[in-house]
Amino acid sequence: MTSTASTADVPHARAGSSTPRAHRLPSTGALTDRLDRPMRDLRISITDRCNFRCVYCMPKAVFGRDYAFLDRDELLSFEEITRISRIAAAHGVEKLRLTGGEPLLRRGLEGLVEQLAELRTPDGRPLEIALTTNGSALAVKASALKAAGLTRVTVSLDSLDDELFQSMNDVRFPVSRVLDGIEAAHAAGLGPIKINMVVKRGLNDHEILPMARRFHGSPFSLRFIEYMDVGTSNGWQLDEVVSSAEIVQRIGAELPLEPLAAAAPGETAARWRYVDGGGEIGLISSVTNAFCGTCNRARISTEGKLFTCLFASEGHDLRALLRSGIDDDGLAAAMASIWGARDDRYSEVRATLTPELRAARSKIEMSYIGG
Ligand code: SAM
Ligand code: SF4
Ligand code: SF4
Repeated sequence: MTSTASTADVPHARAGSSTPRAHRLPSTGALTDRLDRPMRDLRISITDRCNFRCVYCMPKAVFGRDYAFLDRDELLSFEEITRISRIAAAHGVEKLRLTGGEPLLRRGLEGLVEQLAELRTPDGRPLEIALTTNGSALAVKASALKAAGLTRVTVSLDSLDDELFQSMNDVRFPVSRVLDGIEAAHAAGLGPIKINMVVKRGLNDHEILPMARRFHGSPFSLRFIEYMDVGTSNGWQLDEVVSSAEIVQRIGAELPLEPLAAAAPGETAARWRYVDGGGEIGLISSVTNAFCGTCNRARISTEGKLFTCLFASEGHDLRALLRSGIDDDGLAAAMASIWGARDDRYSEVRATLTPELRAARSKIEMSYIGG
C-alpha cells in the first residue's frame, strides 16, 4: 500500500506568500508516520544516469541509446539537496545515503559532500554520509570524497567471475577494476565498507559461495540482497528469488554461521557471524521476510520527488515547492505532512498480491530512485 497524497495535498506557499500558521512546525522535532515509524534515513538519488546496464536494474532493451534521461536543470541542485537534508536533519534524519543511477557520475560530487558534511542533528552531531556505488570510479575518487567528508561507501558487486560480471553489467566492465575501487576506498578510510550482492537464481547464485569465501576474514562486510520486483523493466518473477534462508544454509554448510542481534532499529540487513571469527555477513530479505514494520527510510528521486517507499507509484514534488520560493518552515511542514500520511508496507503486502496485480501496479525504477 502506498500513500497517495500529492503535492496538492501538501501545504505550500507561492513565491512571496507565507505558509499558513496552522501548518508551522517547531524548527526541530522528530517526524513519525501513521504506523509510528520515524524518519531517520534519507536516500538521495543524485543522477538517473549510469555507466552500467545491469540486467536486473537497467536492461539495455529499456535503457538503450534513445532513452531520455533527465536534463541537467531537472535535477536537484546541490544547494537544493543540502536544504532538504538540513530540514530532514532537524526532524530526525541522522543518515544520508547518496545513490542513483551511478552517483559517482554526478560532476562535482565532492562539493555536495562538503556541503552535507556541514549539517548537524539538533543535538549537534554530524550526519553519517554514505554512498552506494558500482565502484567503477572509486579508485579515482575515493580520497577526494573522504577529504570532502564522506563517511563510508557500499559497493555493489554481483560476481567475482569476470566473464559473468561483465555480462551482468552488460557494458563489459572488468571486475578487477571494481575490486581496485574497493581497496582504494578502504585505503582512503571510507569504511567499514559493505559489499552488496544481488542474487538472481540461475544467473549468479553459484557465486554465493565464492563471494563468501573471498570476503570471509576480510575487513569488508558482504551483504546478500534478495532480487526484488522494483520498477517494471526487469521482468521479475518470484522463482528467481533466492531466499536469505537458502543463502545462509548454503554458506553455513561450509563456513558455519550464527545469528547476531540487530545493531540499530530499522536496520535492513539481518546479521550473521562466522563461528570461526571470520567476520559477518548481512542478509536483506525484502521479499521473504519484509521489514516494513521498522522502515524509517525516505527517498528523494533525482528530480526532487519525495517517495515514502521504494515501491511507491507516486512521489511528492519537493522541487516544485523549493522553486516556488517556499520558506524553510513551509518546506518542513510539507515534509511532515507527507511523512505523517505514510502507511506504506509494500513488502508485507506483496505476498497477498497475485502476479497479475503485482504486474498491474505502476512502480518506479530503482535507477531513478536509488537503492
Ligand atoms: N549504481 C549504484 C550501485 O549499483 O550500487 C547505486 C544505485 S543501485 C540502483 C543501488 C542498489 O540497488 C545496488 O546495490 C543494486 O544492486 C540494487 N538493485 C538494483 N536493482 C535491484 C533489484 N531488482 N533487486 C534488488 N536490488 C537491486
Ligand atoms: Fe547502474 Fe547500479 Fe542499476 Fe547497476 S544497479 S545499472 S550500477 S544503477
Ligand atoms: Fe520500507 Fe521497503 Fe516496506 Fe516500502 S516495502 S515500507 S521501502 S521496507
